[in-house]
Amino acid sequence: MGNTKYVFVTGGVLSSLGKGLASASIGALLESRGLSVTIQKLDPYINVDPGTMNPFQHGEVFVTDDGTETDLDLGHYERFTHAKLGKNNNFTTGKIYYSVITKERRGDYLGGTVQVIPHITDEIKNSIKLVADDVDVVIVEIGGTIGDIESLPFLEAIRQFKADVGKENVLYIHLTLVPYMAAAKEVKTKPTQHSVKELRSIGIQPDILLCRTEHDLSIEIKSKIALFCNVSVDAVITAKDVKVIYEVPLNFHREGLDEKIIQLLNIWTRAPRLENWERFVHRYKNPTKAVNIAIVGKYTDLTDSYKSLNEALYHGGVANDAKVNLLYVDSETIYDDNCKEKLAEAHGILVPGGFGSRGIEGKIAAVKYARTNNIPFFGICLGMHVAVIEFARNVAGLVGANSTEFEVNAPHPVIYLMLEWLNEKTGVVEKRDMHSDKGATMRLGAYPCRIIPGSFAEKAYQQKDISERHRHRYEFNNEYRELFTEKGLRLSGVSPAGDLIEIVEIPDHPWFLGCQFHPEFKSRPMSPHPLFKDFIAASVKYGEKA
Ligand code: GLN
Repeated sequence: MGNTKYVFVTGGVLSSLGKGLASASIGALLESRGLSVTIQKLDPYINVDPGTMNPFQHGEVFVTDDGTETDLDLGHYERFTHAKLGKNNNFTTGKIYYSVITKERRGDYLGGTVQVIPHITDEIKNSIKLVADDVDVVIVEIGGTIGDIESLPFLEAIRQFKADVGKENVLYIHLTLVPYMAAAKEVKTKPTQHSVKELRSIGIQPDILLCRTEHDLSIEIKSKIALFCNVSVDAVITAKDVKVIYEVPLNFHREGLDEKIIQLLNIWTRAPRLENWERFVHRYKNPTKAVNIAIVGKYTDLTDSYKSLNEALYHGGVANDAKVNLLYVDSETIYDDNCKEKLAEAHGILVPGGFGSRGIEGKIAAVKYARTNNIPFFGICLGMHVAVIEFARNVAGLVGANSTEFEVNAPHPVIYLMLEWLNEKTGVVEKRDMHSDKGATMRLGAYPCRIIPGSFAEKAYQQKDISERHRHRYEFNNEYRELFTEKGLRLSGVSPAGDLIEIVEIPDHPWFLGCQFHPEFKSRPMSPHPLFKDFIAASVKYGEKA
């Protein structure tokens, strides 16, 4: 662990100030100076993992290579940095207590009284140290808002942490709100003062304040905040609202944040290299084309549930110099007869991942509309399932074809639960357990896939062997391989052992692709995902003709 440095990011006043983005941006800035970083999220809620949480309440479930179902903030971390994230990058109160209680049951505490301090706080501190190997800086974001009951053990743990590893190795950054009062025509510092007071009452003196605001903060305001909150003036950073999230690192840099961090942590680095960020933001803000993408899905009124998807589409847009307009279409409101009207504006149609039968027929109608009208189509996970069902019913003539997720006794179960498959990462034959709580276990995380030559996929990836992340139970039913191939479905991506269909395509179409995995999790601003890049390119082309 050597001389690892730790940056703790807390949030005050209210939620949704963008702590995740702030933490990711700090990571990006430190990387731009040549430091290696990792980012961890400590979440105060009791759920043991976010996998089963409703995306309506909590936003997207982000999946890492190692198959951990995590908080969507980890998506920001991966998009902004090169940190390799996995199961140790996200701990919840539930996971911490679970581990302590398991140890207690095992007798590890030798009958001693098990308490929040030191047992829970020790467990938290050990969890932080788990990610500290091989990196220069560990950034730890504490979920929730200062003043919440739930976050207290985490705050106590990070308070102790400074004494444990030495004060020169720890930095506390607090994100707060500086609201503008229109009636008084001025910004107000009181909420920030109170939030810092609250933090200090539990023993944490912040070193740097990130002040979320709609207006630039004058030097007078910064001085006032500095005085009341006991930080230096150059440690009061304006975190002004941005149009494009990828501007945040650049704005923080202009405010001197990275300089201040390395100064306080007493580290020497090269000057930051931010040209690639500048170039990306410039292209993002100055598109020469525009394209409308319809997302036909369920959680369409809460776009946070499609966070990575939206970002991947924007990345693909920038790569094509196109502004991407997202049209969210609720699949429960569409059917064959109104597709033309509901999807009239769309230059590309995307059906994202999802669970359960609600709105399925609408999604199938959208696929049919895209297929028969030569509109670029991209189906992701459940989106691939509906593409296969549509093909089965309307091209292969299999009446009543369905996924057994929606109809257990479907006459043609073209998508079904495969009870055994070879996990090529481990060489083990995996079994899906039908008796587990959720009916069966999921295929989660990175799996290899081999692409066939001459496919849309090959054109996009420009390589034969790829690895993508999964999160699903149901699979393409191999019984239908021959028939579908004969009828014109191209099975263009298969697991190397050959038993799992990962990509399907309709060759006689400008661009029609469904994949079993979630490519959106691996798209980065500076390296847009090839499938999104090509889907947007095809959609731009369609739009130009339309
Ligand atoms: N509900 C489907 C399954 O479990 C698809 C999941 C998804 O789209 N992520 O297989």
